[in-house]
Amino acid sequence: MRLSAYFLPILRDDPKEAEIISHKLMLRAGMIRQEAAGSYSWLPLGFRVLKKIEQIVREEQNRAGAIEVLMPTIQSADLWRKSGRYDAYGKEMLRIKDRHDRDMLFGPTNEEMITDIFRHGAQSYRDLPRNLYHIQWKFRDEVRPRFGVMRGREFLMKDAYSFDLDAEGGRHSYNKMFVSYLRTFARMGLKAIPMRAETGPIGGKDSHEFLILADTGESQVFFDRDFYDMDWTEFSIDYDDAAAVGKLVEDFTSKYAATDDKHEAAEFEKLPADRRLSGRGIEVGHIFFFGSKYSEPLGAVVQGKDGQPVTVLSGSYGIGVSRLVGAIIEASHDEAGIIWPEPVAPFKLALINLKAGDSGTDAACEKIYGALGAKGVEVLYDDTDARPGAKFATMDLIGLPWQVIIGPRGLKDGIAEVKNRRTGERSNVPLTEIVDRFSA
Ligand code: ATP
Ligand code: MG
Repeated sequence: MRLSAYFLPILRDDPKEAEIISHKLMLRAGMIRQEAAGSYSWLPLGFRVLKKIEQIVREEQNRAGAIEVLMPTIQSADLWRKSGRYDAYGKEMLRIKDRHDRDMLFGPTNEEMITDIFRHGAQSYRDLPRNLYHIQWKFRDEVRPRFGVMRGREFLMKDAYSFDLDAEGGRHSYNKMFVSYLRTFARMGLKAIPMRAETGPIGGKDSHEFLILADTGESQVFFDRDFYDMDWTEFSIDYDDAAAVGKLVEDFTSKYAATDDKHEAAEFEKLPADRRLSGRGIEVGHIFFFGSKYSEPLGAVVQGKDGQPVTVLSGSYGIGVSRLVGAIIEASHDEAGIIWPEPVAPFKLALINLKAGDSGTDAACEKIYGALGAKGVEVLYDDTDARPGAKFATMDLIGLPWQVIIGPRGLKDGIAEVKNRRTGERSNVPLTEIVDRFSA
């Protein structure tokens, strides 16, 4: 992409409305624009990041055996009346009437709808287990939308729903999602610690929130320092091997980690003092096993192996896709701007032409831009006539992992400067080697 033809409305000054760094940086980097309280347009740069995160989430859901669907944002109130949640949900639900005066709502979540879909499509034990998910916009009329996309009213969520015949199967479905979350967040460069959350009717360890540590997080968290020593990269696992999946979940849940509403001081204090850590965290995912809470009222019943009817058991598994954009920035930035982990970066590298209009630098840049593009490397090419200082500031702000800087001086010796955004390390690289350095 040529910057001269792109839409990147950079703000030089800190926007006054933003309280936290990720919100400030997203506005300054021209990633989003607020349209109403808690509602944002995704501008080109922000949209690219959102899509990268969505794709990682999708790949890891698919790998864990979940099947993608897409349900509408606007739902009829009928099913919500059956489950009893139409009244229970309260003011967070945006209620709408259509022209026939029918009660509709903008979905805050989809348990009722998916249970009804499943009920109509599944007849017997052979149709289970299944896990269906979608990645769709939600609306929750939050009392205090704030922190930009971190607590929006309209936000993008991945929500998966599992259907099982018995508790053992349900446990395995839950554990698969647990492991898939470890993998998903690790691929984005995050350590999202699974913490005990409000348990459902089944009791036990059947609800976990995944939190990343950040001073600006909304939750108070308490956890064992041992989490720092765990291997957060090696989650290669056979999802069909229930014992192996269960073992991995056990490793991560046997250590103390809880948010303030589940915190048990007495238990926490059994840990040696130097292992007791507390701080703030951002919830990026939440998994929940609730058994027959929705299948019962909505009549999701299949024929069991013995011919008898079985009410299916379910869980739901959410990831805050749009919240993650802000959360990743909270975890990865410096005073100059954002530092994208490569897998979610909007472009892999910035190609900076220090003297646009000079035939020599133009030609050298064009050649490299074309060759990298042909290899499938995502490049944002600054071909504008802005001053070098402004170009560097913009590229540091938007945080692409690599900068390739080409100017008349280096060109005389046939070299470009390559800068790593994260380490700040710079090196001189022969122009002839630049293209080989990067892969898609
Ligand atoms: P929170 O406690 O932050 O209000 P929640 O527990 O109500 O969230 P869930 O129903 O568990 O949210 O939703 C699943 C995921 O969706 C959350 O883990 C979070 O990452 C994301 N999410 C929830 N509410 C919002 C919001 N208002 N804006 C952006 N993302 C959100
Ligand atoms: Mg939650």
